[in-house]
Amino acid sequence: MSQDFHPNASPDHFWMPFTANRQFKATPRLLESAEGMYYTASDGRQVLDGTAGLWCCNAGHGRREISEAVSKQIARMDFAPTFQMGHPLPFELAEKLAAISPEGLNRVFFTNSGSESADTALKIALAYQRAIGQGSRTRLIGRELAYHGVGFGGMSVGGMANNRRAFGPMLPGVDHLPHTLDLQRNAFSKGLPQHGVERADELERLVVLHGAENIAAVIVEPMSGSAGVILPPVGYLQRLREITAKHGILLIFDEVITGFGRVGEAFAAQRWGVTPDILTCAKGLTNGAIPMGAVLVADHLFDAFMKGPESVIEFFHGYTYSGHPVACAAALATQQIYQQENLFQKAIDLEPYWQEALFSLRDLPNVIDIRTVGLVAGIQFAAHADGVGKRGYEVFRECFEKGLLVRASGDTIALSPALIVEKAEIDQMMELLADGIRQAG
Ligand code: PMP
Repeated sequence: MSQDFHPNASPDHFWMPFTANRQFKATPRLLESAEGMYYTASDGRQVLDGTAGLWCCNAGHGRREISEAVSKQIARMDFAPTFQMGHPLPFELAEKLAAISPEGLNRVFFTNSGSESADTALKIALAYQRAIGQGSRTRLIGRELAYHGVGFGGMSVGGMANNRRAFGPMLPGVDHLPHTLDLQRNAFSKGLPQHGVERADELERLVVLHGAENIAAVIVEPMSGSAGVILPPVGYLQRLREITAKHGILLIFDEVITGFGRVGEAFAAQRWGVTPDILTCAKGLTNGAIPMGAVLVADHLFDAFMKGPESVIEFFHGYTYSGHPVACAAALATQQIYQQENLFQKAIDLEPYWQEALFSLRDLPNVIDIRTVGLVAGIQFAAHADGVGKRGYEVFRECFEKGLLVRASGDTIALSPALIVEKAEIDQMMELLADGIRQAG
C-alpha cells in the first residue's frame, strides 16, 4: 500500500471513471467526509463544495433524515423484486413525483442512473410509436455537445466527441441538431441568451430530409450541463416543442442535472414553460445518497401501451433495481426536505445575488464568458495557444488546492452549489474561485 496515496488504500486497482488514472495516482484528491456545504479531504482540509457533489446533493451533505430513512429501510426490507409483484414504496414515490412534475407527466418508470433513464426514455419513445401504429418512426435526434450518459442509446444521441470516439458504430438512424453555444452573439448574457432561437429550425430540415413519418423522438437537455452549462436561447425550447408537436415527434427532456430545483422550480420544463412528452431525472432525486433515476411519462403515452390484452406485459424493459426499496426511502426523505425547506424557491430567490457574484469575476484573466441561471453557472476561459480543453482542469486543480470544488469541462468550469447555500458561502466561493483563476493564469 502506498503511504503517499492513502494509509488504507492502494491506487492500483480501482479503475476510475472519466479520469486520467495515471495522473490521479501521482496527485490524488481524496474526500473522506461531508457535512452541509463542505467536504473534508483526506489531509484534513475543508473543501467548499461548489458542485453539490456531481450536481447531485441539492439539499447539502450529511442529511440525517436521509441516512435514517435508508438505514431503517434496509433493516425493514433490504430488497424486493418489482417484476410481476411489488412493494408500496415506488408507488408512493411515483405519486409524489407526479405531484411536482410538469402537467400531464404522471407515470413514472424507475431506473438506477441518468444513463439508464436516457436509454429507457428512448426505448419508451420507440415502443410508443410502434404501439400507435407508427412503427416506421425509428429515427432519433439528439444534439451536438449533449450528454445523455454512457449507454449505447444515450451515447448515440449524445454529442460529446470524446465520449464516443473509441467505441465504433453507434445506434443507426441518429441525427444531431446544432448546439446553442454562441460566444460571438451571446457572451456574458445575464440569464437566457437572446440569440439563437433559429437553431431549433434545423429540426425542420431533418424532417424534410428523413420524413416526419420516420422520426420517433428528439432528446435535449433543456440546459446542457456536462458540456459546460449551455443555456437555451430565449424561445428555443418553445420552438422545438412546436415543431415536434406539429410532426408527431416526441420531445424528451433530459433533466438529470436540471431536475429538483437546479434552475428554480422542480424541473426546467416548468421554469421555461415547455412540457415535454418524456422527462428523465436522477442525481437530485435521492440527493445523490443512493443511485436512482426516473423517467416521467405523459399519460397519453402510457395509455397507448395499455390498449392490448390485460394479461400481456406491455413494455419488456426494466432493471433488477427498478424501484429499489432503499433508493425509494432515500428519495422520499429527499423530496420531503426539498418541500419542507422550500429549496426550489430558494434557488430562485438567490439567483440575482448569485448572478452578481459571478459577474464580479468577469475581468479576471482569460475569462471569455459567464453563463448562469438558477443556481448553476459556467465560466469559460480562452483556450491555451497550444491546445483546447486544458484550462478548466487547471482552474479545477488550483481551486481544489485552495479549498473549493468546481467541475471542469474542457476550457469551462461549472458551478452548481447545493440549494442550501448561504450568501456568505457564495462570497467565499467567489474569493476562492478568483484566486484559483488568477493562479491558473
Ligand atoms: N444525462 C445528463 C443530462 C447528465 O448530466 C448525466 C450525468 N452527468 C447523465 C445523463 C448520466 O447520468 P449517470 O452518470 O447517472 O448515468
